[in-house]
Amino acid sequence: MGYAEVCVNSPVAPRQTFSYAIPSGMNISIGQAVLVPFGEKVLQGIVLALSEYPAVAETREIAEIIEPQPVLSPAAVSLAGWISQYYLSPIFDAVALMLPPGFERKALTFITASPLLPDFDLSSLTPDQKLLLETVRKEDKVNLRRLENKTGKKKSQSIISQLVKRGLATRSYELEPVRASPRQEPYLNLAISPDQAQQEASSLNKSGARKQAALLDFLIQQPGTVSLAAARKETRSNKSVVDALVSKGLVATEYIQTRRDPLSAWNVNLSLPLPLTASQDAVFRPIRKSLAEQTDSKIFLLHGVTGSGKTEIYLQALAETIKTGKRGIVLVPEIALTPQTIERFASRFPGKVAVLHSQLSLGEQFDEWQRIRAGEFDVVIGPRSALFAPQPDLGLIIVDEEHEWTYKQDDKSPRYHTRNVAIKLSGLTGATVILGSATPDVETFYHACRGDYHLLHLPERVTPSENAPLPRVEIVDLKDELKAGNRSLFSHSLSEAISNAVTAGEQVILFLNRRGAATFIQCRNCGFTLNCRRCDVPLSYHLDEDMLVCHQCNYRTAVPRVCPRCQSRRIKFLGTGTQKLEQETGTAFPQARLLRWDSDATRKKDSHREILERFRSHQADILIGTQMVTKGLDLPRVTLVGAVNADYGLNRPDFRAGERTFQLLSQVAGRAGRGPRGGQVIIQTYTPEHYAIQAAAKHDYSLFYEREITYRRQLHNPPFSRLARLTFSHTNDAFCRKEAENLRRLLIEERDARGIAGLTVIGPAPAFIHRLRGRFRWQLVLRGADPSAFLAPVSIPQGWAIDIDPVGL
Ligand code: ADP
Ligand code: ZN
Ligand code: ZN
Repeated sequence: MGYAEVCVNSPVAPRQTFSYAIPSGMNISIGQAVLVPFGEKVLQGIVLALSEYPAVAETREIAEIIEPQPVLSPAAVSLAGWISQYYLSPIFDAVALMLPPGFERKALTFITASPLLPDFDLSSLTPDQKLLLETVRKEDKVNLRRLENKTGKKKSQSIISQLVKRGLATRSYELEPVRASPRQEPYLNLAISPDQAQQEASSLNKSGARKQAALLDFLIQQPGTVSLAAARKETRSNKSVVDALVSKGLVATEYIQTRRDPLSAWNVNLSLPLPLTASQDAVFRPIRKSLAEQTDSKIFLLHGVTGSGKTEIYLQALAETIKTGKRGIVLVPEIALTPQTIERFASRFPGKVAVLHSQLSLGEQFDEWQRIRAGEFDVVIGPRSALFAPQPDLGLIIVDEEHEWTYKQDDKSPRYHTRNVAIKLSGLTGATVILGSATPDVETFYHACRGDYHLLHLPERVTPSENAPLPRVEIVDLKDELKAGNRSLFSHSLSEAISNAVTAGEQVILFLNRRGAATFIQCRNCGFTLNCRRCDVPLSYHLDEDMLVCHQCNYRTAVPRVCPRCQSRRIKFLGTGTQKLEQETGTAFPQARLLRWDSDATRKKDSHREILERFRSHQADILIGTQMVTKGLDLPRVTLVGAVNADYGLNRPDFRAGERTFQLLSQVAGRAGRGPRGGQVIIQTYTPEHYAIQAAAKHDYSLFYEREITYRRQLHNPPFSRLARLTFSHTNDAFCRKEAENLRRLLIEERDARGIAGLTVIGPAPAFIHRLRGRFRWQLVLRGADPSAFLAPVSIPQGWAIDIDPVGL
């Protein structure tokens, strides 16, 4: 007899698998979905390993196979194991990333009566046993729930156990059906023969019912069934025309299951590969080599300024992959924000692209998953979860805008980073990985410089013409504006530039990164912001206690009355959001049509595309928004981009604040000047000398990188260390803090007992968002060579969320 190591969908012992015996005659492979008895219940599980001997003395048997074909490939099983181990997540959470949508369902128990032996004495049964047995014998099989309704849960279960023991009944298990039903659409058919229909049509024509006759004629000409929508459109008939034909019995409606294709609403024209420029050709060569043969380095970092032709490289790399009989996965930060990118992939590989997005119903997602597994799509595009699509013969993984934070899942377990998992998956499958960005993540770039990844550059723009210059950037020092008596949100320069652009019929983007809840304080005279002395991050103002707090180490101090640097009393609490900006823009430029794009404005489902479409079709002159406006927009009419306050990002209590600011400013600057009229960028700031702002203004990544990496080295921040964040949340603040202090003590004891050097425990401190949905949150941060390995054997108390390599602190 063999044994299987099964991970089950249960919160008990989450990081462990359980041994089950394989009943004789049952064929079990790795990756197989099974039902297993677990305590009193029957649960879904996935076989992760097979062995000759069980891991424990007593094992139960696997109850049932859910599906003959394994749901996970061996590579997927290894990947899940790695995710669970590295990110310290429950193994089932990691496995669940790769399961078909809607897989997680309850198992239903069915009872079937066994044939009675001729000499069986029914009077040996109790009245209850007899009652249930009779119910069961009336049908093939009975859902246990129905019996429970009859005699109560506990009682029916024990009676069934007695019946099973006496050989009078057997149990079997099935999964609950998938609830979401696929989408159905009405279709039209002739209800009579074409000849009869011909006659009916001519008599309808004679009686003056021309529209009905036309629709009937149309249906006669169709080889098969036609969708109602298409038929009405083609013949310009309204609903009453269709209804009349149906009620006369000439036409029948039927409902057919349809796939909701997210691309169908778009105008997708075939696009052909462009002849590569010399720089593109130079970066494409090593990629093509990696796709064609087994090479050492399969990970590429494609660093190319905005508009340098990275996407064209992705497209041709995919074509190359398909040529060798393999398939690709393309990851984008957010589907809703990148319709233009998606369109380009769909038009290069028409009919061969699956777009995974959350608007599909569960049933549709399930169908899509099956079709992907069957190899129907050359390319799968989606957000981070698309990395786990069951794409067979995976040859290429593209991570577009690899620096984006949405690639890190941090709201639920497993808190994985897409980039790291993609690299791991490449190791397991031999797939090539292209990480692309105009502003690579500092850690990615560091690895590329060290030779861990293959570094490729595209230094010039291809549009509007080859080697087109990047837009001119002007930095405006807001302190000077104040001195000149200008207290509005718009500097003299920006104000003039907006007026000119709007008057000339051009478009403007105004960017204001106001998202976090924390307010910061800044001296209006010298621009100084108050930082924590221990952590070098800005202190946040807490309104409730009227104190400044460091969100990394909990250092607290009163709000100073004069600026510690220049003694000025003009200390200012800053906090302007996009709504206030919209209001002031309206007052200052009454002639301009405004459009706001931020998370408040996009509560509705499709509104990202609607807003973008309104702006693209010039129904507005000025687009005001948060970081949404920095994404891959390609809008030729935009000639001016204004960053209204570049300091907002800089004042986040996070060592990545400089990096984030550089990325946002570079990306937003990249939106300007994509058309023939060129473009201009104005950055307003109180800290014009800051390296992130200076580097963004010069479009100079290396200038930024050299400074940033020096700071990281000095402060032992990643990539020179790794971090882990542990967060505890509770409705009681004091309790939360106490828990955090206890865990801190436990971790320090553990560290000292194991003699681990160079591991610091920082905190406890309130989380950046201290109170979230009524719960207080405290956090500890571990910094060291490998906090994941340190934490792995530690049993962390219930209620803690662990985030390895967190992206926002
Ligand atoms: P990125 O992804 O780096 O922002 P894109 O791939 O979107 O750059 O290229 C920017 C523009 O240049 C697009 O409109 C694209 O069609 C065009 N383009 C890219 N490569 C070429 C080429 N080899 N020849 C002509 N136009 C190109
Ligand atoms: Zn000052
Ligand atoms: Zn601090």
